[in-house]
Amino acid sequence: MEDLYKESEQIIKGIQNVYKFRSRTRLMPDVRELLKNAEKFLERLESQNTNNLTSSEKIVFNEVKRQTSTEVEILKRDFSGTRFDYEVVFKVFSIPREDVDELKPWLDANIGKVKELIDSSFKNFGESGFKNDLSVDIPELAERAKKFAHQKINKYAFTIAELLDSVSKTGDLLRKLKVHPTTEERSYINYTFKRVGISIKDITEETEDGELILKEERLITLLGHECMGHGMNFVLSQDKNLPFVLRDDLASSLPTMESIAQHYANLIFEDLKNHCEVQEKLGLTERFEQIYKKHKEEELLIEFKNKRYYHALTILADKTLNTQQKIEKINQLSITEGRSVDPFFGLQVVMNHKNSYDDQGNLQLGVLRELIYCARPVKKSLEMISAQLGQDYYAQNRQEVDKMFLTGFYTSEGFVEKTQEFIREKRKA
Ligand SMILES: [Zn+2]
Repeated sequence: MEDLYKESEQIIKGIQNVYKFRSRTRLMPDVRELLKNAEKFLERLESQNTNNLTSSEKIVFNEVKRQTSTEVEILKRDFSGTRFDYEVVFKVFSIPREDVDELKPWLDANIGKVKELIDSSFKNFGESGFKNDLSVDIPELAERAKKFAHQKINKYAFTIAELLDSVSKTGDLLRKLKVHPTTEERSYINYTFKRVGISIKDITEETEDGELILKEERLITLLGHECMGHGMNFVLSQDKNLPFVLRDDLASSLPTMESIAQHYANLIFEDLKNHCEVQEKLGLTERFEQIYKKHKEEELLIEFKNKRYYHALTILADKTLNTQQKIEKINQLSITEGRSVDPFFGLQVVMNHKNSYDDQGNLQLGVLRELIYCARPVKKSLEMISAQLGQDYYAQNRQEVDKMFLTGFYTSEGFVEKTQEFIREKRKA
């Protein structure tokens, strides 16, 4: 197997080189030779006898097969100019179909709660005082905000690493990452430099008196998402014993990576809730309950907006509908008790994407790609663990489960298989 895995690595690195070249030069090199070799290799993988592999080795083998063939498929299409239709997107990014099918029932079940939340937060809106998004266009303010954010980020990252030492002995992994404030709109992680950028604009606001305020729940969420999720996933995956596909963040493992990041962004609040001494260190003791509640509310609103958008994408991609039908169908997602919580949404989404189709009416891959965020392999895995190993298993064996979750970049399918294998092993023991 070692040789096959080495060859898969060479092929994928060859493909990555093509894309690096293309993004630098905006030119496409001749890839026929590369594709021919890659296809021969995939045939060999397909006919490989795997009978003498253990079940966990088989999971790894399947991942190498899945992820390599996805990379080859993408290059093949790009090179031949073949169009990506709706169905292909599921295959390319390994998005489980059932996770997309779950969107509509979830929206139907939650729109009532969402409306209540909008009503109540509007009521409180006027009372909470005027706050402004940060004007980072003003140099002096930007400088002040950078210093302010840096200080807060350091303090929170330091304290959360200590928290991780006690819940899953993983604080040292977090300390391997450098966490900085960034003026970018979105927070991010740069794997090459092990560097996390936390968006200053996202975590800071300004009062009418010019005072800077930290949005604690945003900073905590982002540290959970970027550091505990993506960051530790990356650090633990840099194990030379893993095949290349599990060490590199390839297209088909993106859904799992995001599912992991979302999981830890939520878990970090539960950890803080269970550790009063950490709340105290952060000076949050009195306000923690309020911050936690705000996080839960915001989580519901964000989940609603996201899921509504993702479901809207499936409607936008439906070639059997005309524009008006798309608008109406999308608008129905916002209606509760006969009234819409967002009457312009349908028109807005349709208009925003009016140039996002190819000549045959396929919604572009770049837009549909957002569906990767629907994948829920971690949720599925947690449900399996609690059903088969006991409800408290995760809380009591956090270190072990986290290590299993965070080691290697798997596809959704592979991630669930890996969990099944973990459960089998534990039941045997
Ligand atoms: Zn992410």
